[in-house]
This record gives sequence, C-alpha cells and structure tokens, in this order.
Amino acid sequence: MAFPSDLDIARSAALKPIEDVANGMGLSSRSLQAYGDDVCKVRLEALDDLADRPRGKYVVVSAITPTPLGEGKTTTTVGLGQAFAHIGRKASIAIRQPSMGPTFGIKGGAAGGGYSQVVPMELLNLHLTGDSHAVTAAHNLLSATIDNHLFQGNDLDLDPHQITWRRVLDVNDRALRNVIVGLGSRADGVPRQTGFDITAASEVMAVLGLTTSLPDLRARLGRIVVGYTRGGDPVTAEQLQAAGSMAVIMREAIKPNLMQTLENTPVLVHAGPFGNIATGNSSVIADSIGLRCSEFHVTEAGFGADMGAERFFNIKCRTSGEAPDAAVVVATVRALKAHSGNYKIVAGKELSPELLAENPDDVALGAENLRKQIDNIRMHGIPAVVAINAFPTDHPSEHQVIQKIAAEMGAKSAVCTNFADGGRGATELAEAVAEACEEPSKFQLLYPDAATLREKIETVATRVYGADGVDYTSAAERQLDTYERAGFSNLPVCIAKTHLSISSDAALKGAPTGWRLPVREVRASAGAGFVYPLCGAMRTMPGLGSKPAAARIDLDENSEIVGLS
Ligand code: ADP
Ligand code: MG
Repeated sequence: MAFPSDLDIARSAALKPIEDVANGMGLSSRSLQAYGDDVCKVRLEALDDLADRPRGKYVVVSAITPTPLGEGKTTTTVGLGQAFAHIGRKASIAIRQPSMGPTFGIKGGAAGGGYSQVVPMELLNLHLTGDSHAVTAAHNLLSATIDNHLFQGNDLDLDPHQITWRRVLDVNDRALRNVIVGLGSRADGVPRQTGFDITAASEVMAVLGLTTSLPDLRARLGRIVVGYTRGGDPVTAEQLQAAGSMAVIMREAIKPNLMQTLENTPVLVHAGPFGNIATGNSSVIADSIGLRCSEFHVTEAGFGADMGAERFFNIKCRTSGEAPDAAVVVATVRALKAHSGNYKIVAGKELSPELLAENPDDVALGAENLRKQIDNIRMHGIPAVVAINAFPTDHPSEHQVIQKIAAEMGAKSAVCTNFADGGRGATELAEAVAEACEEPSKFQLLYPDAATLREKIETVATRVYGADGVDYTSAAERQLDTYERAGFSNLPVCIAKTHLSISSDAALKGAPTGWRLPVREVRASAGAGFVYPLCGAMRTMPGLGSKPAAARIDLDENSEIVGLS
C-alpha cells in the first residue's frame, strides 16, 4: 500500500480540544483567546502568570547545509517534540508560520511531514489567524505614509532616490519586483520607482520575531528606517508618525498561535521571517512561553547551522537573554551525498537513480559539511546531537557512516523514523537530547555588542563560514560608516548569503575553504535590531515555477481541499 499523503494523514488525526492542549501545558483558560475550534492565541499576560515557573530545557533544531528540497527540520522538530511523551517527558514545540507564497509555489506547505505534522495543516499553511495579513497591512500603511509625505510637500526632505522601504504581499509574484507608483495626474501622487517583497521579507515580520512585549513592538516599529534625507540622515517610521498605527494593526498578531501535533503535543506557531535577509526563526515570545510550560522546548531555526542557528544564537538569544541547552543537527543521506560534489539535486526534479544507489563512501565524502556544522554549534558552547532523518531509499550502511562520523566528533546521534512512525520513531533522539541537556551549558555569544560592525561580520565569516576574510565594495564601506555614525554599531549582524553552501557561492559544497566573503551592500533593519550585509543577489520576492503547487490545489466535490502538501 502506498504511504498516505500528508493531507490524508493530517485529516485522520484525532485532535484534542485546543483548550485541553493549553491546560495540559499549564496555561490557564483566561490566557487563551479562541480562534475557531483548533487554534487559539495565547495572551501576553500569560508571560506574567508563568514568570515563577521553572524554565525548561531549550533545544534548537538546525541542520547540515540543505538541498533545495529541505532536509526535514520541521519534520524532525515535530517528531522530537512528539517523542518526549514516549519517554515520559513533557515538551512543547515552536515553529514559524509558513508563508503562503511558497505554499502555492514550489516548496509546498511547511507543517512537517508524514506522521510528524502540525494540524490542522490546512489552517497552518493558509491564513491561520491572519498574522501575516496584519504584517502586510502594517508594512503597507508605512509605504502609503511615505508616498503621502512626498505628495504633501516632503517636510522631512526624504530623498525619493534613497527610499529603501518597499511594499509587501504574501504571493510569489515576480512581476511586482519592480514597479512605478504615483502614475496618473498630479492628484495621484509623486511618480517613483519601487517594488514589492514577499511578506516574510518585511522588517515588520522580523520585528514580530524579535519583540518581547507590545511597548517594545511599538518602539521597534518607530525605529524602522525607511530611507534617507538628501543630506544622508536616516528617516524613521516614528518621524513619519506611522509607528503608532502600525502597532495598532499588530496588536493581535503579537500573540502566538497555539496548535497541536498529530500526537497532541502543543505547538506555538508565531512569525515567519525570511531566512536570508532576516533571522529565519520563530518568535522570542513563543519561545518564552514554551520554555515555561514544558521540560523541553524545541524550536526550529531555518536553513543550515551556519544560517538559522547562528542567528538563533547571536540575534534571537542575544535579544531574549535565554540560553539554549542543546542543538539538534538534522542530516540526510541524500544531502550528504550531494555535498560530495558528485550529484546535483534540482528542486521540482526526481532524484537520480545514481544518487539513490547505496554509496556510503560518498556520504562520508560529503560529511565535511556535517563536521563543520557541528563545530558551528559547539563554538557557541552547547552540545550538538545529530538526527539522521531516515528516508525509505536510504541504506543502513549509509546511516552507519553518519553515526561513525558523529561519534568521532564526540556528538551523540540517532536514526529517526518519525516521518513514517511518528514520535516513537524519534525516542532515541529524545533520549540523546535529554542527556545532552544535562551537560552544563556554557552558552556564549560569538561576539560582544560592543564590537564594530566590521569585526562582527569578520567573526561570523571566518569562524562560522570558514572564509579567509571579507572584501567590501566601496558602497558597502560607505554604508558601514553611515551606520556606525547613526549609532547602529551595537546591533548584531545578519549576513544575507546563499543557504545552499556554507560559503557565499551556492555551487561550493561540503565545507569550503580558501575563499573570501564578498560584501556588496549593507542594509539596516534598525527596528528589528540587526544590520544585514548582502553577499550576492538575494531574492526577496520569489516567482512561481513552471508547475507551481497552485496548479494542483483545488476543492473537491465535497468542498475539501486537495493538492496541498
Ligand atoms: P525543512 O523544515 O528542513 O525545510 P521539512 O521538514 O519541511 O524540511 O521537509 C521537507 C520535505 O521533505 C517535506 O515535504 C517533508 O514531508 C519531506 N520529508 C521530510 N522528512 C522525510 C522523510 N524522512 N521521508 C520522506 N519525506 C520526508
Ligand atoms: Mg522547516
């Protein structure tokens, strides 16, 4: 019998009333705000109620450098969360809210997979409680304020050629990457070129991910820089008097959403910032709640350990002040084979029979990447546990190679079959993680706030990415000088580079050495609280492919959704 589809598995789930899930984690009913039968929001007052509770262990799920298919971080995050119940421990999970662009584009949904899913997956992958729409609305209100300011006489002397704030929409739409606004008559505004990004790339989304309270959100929105005056001074959302309204629009969105897994493990779903130009992590608030409601709080950080986990440590934990206890590094046979350099994996294409054939030697060749990513965790002072996400096409000899390499590195490892088996397929991983969490945490940030922006970039480039050094264009040098002068030098850095290599060149596999990081441009997300150097062209508005998921998603004769995966 064929393995059932994610949607079929999700539909047959026995969901608990969401209030029971919440009560099970110690959240009182008055902390909850109902949103239909299967989702509720958690009021921020819950943070005060929970303040005296002991803090659980903080576990971040990261990965080796992924292929374009994804290596199963969400699936492992969910499976690990479920597994703790099988070993008699209490866990909660936090994941990002999926973006609807990719859901209807190439990647499909992001609820996990198989018997390790967050349900109802239709709600999760579509609007959920409308947080993304609130981000879109708040972002675009600021955009409208900027154009209105130009139209009304431009008292702030905003230079139309130096406006960095664009518009956003939660759709993959390449035709909107560059647009001209203000066409028409004089009454229709001041014509200028701008463009759209996907909502996940909005700085408002990054703010949502890092904020700690409503007043903090209000203050961060005010600090957003929308552009520069003709004299080169930053202009903020506060100066444009837009931040108050933006905070009002975000008032509900700041509350995390509570859902459950197929095995009724609580899942906090909150914020979905991009993983290249932003943190790629779910929210500080969701983790703060989860950490005080369970023995183990498992949170996912996007892409490989050089990306999501590095930002988790140096941006998210720096902001929240919470120290993690252990990190999981998800590895797959297919991705390690790809890191040998002997195979090509292309999104939307079938894996080649050569790649699927038994070949432990190529797995070992590609394991340089695993070694480096384990190092990238450990340099932050916490233990790494390797989760081998097993696929039906894997061979036992290939798993053994990965386990041997992990052991050589002194890291625990476990083969995980939770995609096929649910939580019971990840109990060995849960035991290993629980043991790792008992090691005394010596968590450390990679650089102090007081380091200069250049020192911060160079530290991440050389230590985490393995670069020999950093090269800046003259534009990047000028921007860094401007930001140091503007007082942004105490902020952490979020280096925007490809996620398909530890280096800045997507074609370089394994653990590349002997290269330098080229910084082309530097931008500031002063509201969210980081500076982001751009190393290569970053797509902030994806396009649809030749066979987008949107073409197969539909309603059947019973008005049920089909084609969502
Ligand atoms: P990530 O979070 O790392 O991007 P996901 O957990 O979303 O990865 O998984 C990527 C895709 O691979 C999903 O479609 C998921 O259902 C599928 N997948 C993950 N693990 C397995 C597995 N062990 N066997 C089969 N399919 C899997
Ligand atoms: Mg994921």
